[in-house]
Amino acid sequence: MAVPKSKITRSKRGMRRSHDALVASNPNECGNCGELRRPHHVCPSCGHYADREVVALADEIDLDEDAA
Ligand SMILES: [Zn+2]
Repeated sequence: MAVPKSKITRSKRGMRRSHDALVASNPNECGNCGELRRPHHVCPSCGHYADREVVALADEIDLDEDAA
């Protein structure tokens, strides 16, 4: 097992961790419903991407049609 040769000082540890901060996401408005969505992702609230519907929402599908 690799063993550290010497103690990492609080200063050096802090220098290493200076790049560890998380950045906030940068959401865009959906062109169809106006809800905030991640860039280059299908809108989670209406299923649209690039001005057309690509994912049908679960409450729009009538599951009883096949059973009858
Ligand atoms: Zn939308």
